[in-house]
Amino acid sequence: MVKCVSILGATGSIGRQSLDIIRHLGLEVGALTAGSNVARMAQQCREFRPKLAVMATREAAEQLREALNDPEISVAWGEEGLLEAAALPEADCVITAVVGMLGLKPTLAAIRQKKRIGLANKETLVCAGELVMAEARAYGAEIIPVDSEHSAIFQCLLGAGEKRAVRRLILTCSGGPFFGMDREALSKVTKADALRHPNWRMGQKITIDCATLMNKGLEVIEAMHLYGVPAEQVDVLIHRQSIVHSMVEFVDGAVMAQLGVADMRLPIQLAMTYPQREECVVERLDLTACAGLTFSRPDMEAFPCLALARQCAARGGNACAAMNGANEEAVRLFLEEKIGFTDIYDRVAQAVAAVPYISAPSLEDILRTDALARRAVSEKP
Ligand code: NDP
Ligand code: MG
Repeated sequence: MVKCVSILGATGSIGRQSLDIIRHLGLEVGALTAGSNVARMAQQCREFRPKLAVMATREAAEQLREALNDPEISVAWGEEGLLEAAALPEADCVITAVVGMLGLKPTLAAIRQKKRIGLANKETLVCAGELVMAEARAYGAEIIPVDSEHSAIFQCLLGAGEKRAVRRLILTCSGGPFFGMDREALSKVTKADALRHPNWRMGQKITIDCATLMNKGLEVIEAMHLYGVPAEQVDVLIHRQSIVHSMVEFVDGAVMAQLGVADMRLPIQLAMTYPQREECVVERLDLTACAGLTFSRPDMEAFPCLALARQCAARGGNACAAMNGANEEAVRLFLEEKIGFTDIYDRVAQAVAAVPYISAPSLEDILRTDALARRAVSEKP
């Protein structure tokens, strides 16, 4: 089990649940970071006494410093602060729970300090999976997935040995709030409808990604990088009950699955306790109370984001970074109610086509691709 944890994005959905687990396990806290929520950050700092607290802006950091008035907690801000938090020597584990590509540089910084990474921030792997995984191998940093599907696969592969003999990984997908709707009906849904996820309470960006099924597309790419398999070996099945969190089919036909209640605190805890398991605060699964477990194929026509993600995964290079950047921007515009729900896919597909292809992108190329893709979405007439 790890001893001291830093959390990038402590005030968010994954961040708060990570602190629940830290409280439950009695671990120490190294650094905590947030965007603008000073009140919640101040409260977390008072309870968990981090060495370092980081806000996105100088103003927010000054407000936090004033609110804390505590010489034992250093306060920093901006990208530099986030990098300092990621590399803080006291912590042996960093939970990456910021949203989006913003997490890329701090994740690399934590890897270079050989921290265990509890990886929630999937956009980082989508944009720069090759670079991140290569750095993790080079520095010997462990990456333990926090995303529930990838944690399930991680658990299904425990004991599978070096030669894993995997035929395919099967990611389950709740289908989101718009399951069963066609493109015509989807063109009329509102932001409030899209934010109503049936099974999970999460941050706004991922909740919209779940509604478009882009989240599952991002997860196919995340799985490719984490488990070193091509996208064709990563299948997706709609499973409305969110009880089977994902599966692995082996070459002999055996299928391993991980089941549990829909509560992110289990994968979060495992990322901290692995290779051990500990008692957890989550509810127990009562299989007799489950009406039935169903599995079906996703509707790729109504939800074309998933197909687009597969195309980008097959293309490789900077294609996934372009798609991710475009999607972050399109979701932002949708949340500001400037574009409609089906415009998200249209804008992302156009941006992906507009950004020049680079087959072996460097970190700089990826950052530039991200910026170009965002601009292609926001500047569309
Ligand atoms: P939230 O939106 O709930 O939290 C985001 C965190 O990032 C908050 O702490 C926020 O601070 C901080 N933040 C926002 N903007 C900035 C900024 N400019 N600079 C620094 N920090 C910033 O997101 P989630 O917890 O839902 O998701 C986090 C990641 O985990 C995502 O990549 C998501 O895909 C992934 N994930 C989430 C799951 C979930 O159940 N929520 C499940 C699986 C994966 P503030 O509060 O101040 O705005
Ligand atoms: Mg997931």
